[in-house]
Amino acid sequence: MKTAAAIALDDILEKDWQRQVIDLANTFGWQRPMHIYDSRRSEPGWPDLALVRDRLVLLELKRENGRLTADQKRWIRALLEAHVEVYVVRPRHYQELARVLQARGHVDGWTAAQYAARTHLLHELDHDLVPNARRHTA
Ligand SMILES: [Mg+2]
Repeated sequence: MKTAAAIALDDILEKDWQRQVIDLANTFGWQRPMHIYDSRRSEPGWPDLALVRDRLVLLELKRENGRLTADQKRWIRALLEAHVEVYVVRPRHYQELARVLQARGHVDGWTAAQYAARTHLLHELDHDLVPNARRHTA
């Protein structure tokens, strides 16, 4: 059974989640995020937001139960291999994202809580990049 909080997270639309993330990024001094508003002439799957401050962070925003497309997975894998800081973030990741966006400089200089938040977000990303067996049984 879902808790009331879980139901509320499920109901958050991606555009509202994006507004929250942009507000969070502004709070921690990131440059006005670059966002591709009309992606029809762009490569499909490129992450939703590019944040710049003392480093570059790319974010793919998802609704609580949204799935990554094959193109999104392909780009994220390529970006990770290129050592780009990229995360898939959902409404339940708000606190972890806040810690990661608050952190400054190289990860080696982060606090333990910030490093743990980053690890959590990367773990979530790994999970998202694992093919979902249920989708291949239909
Ligand atoms: Mg998205």
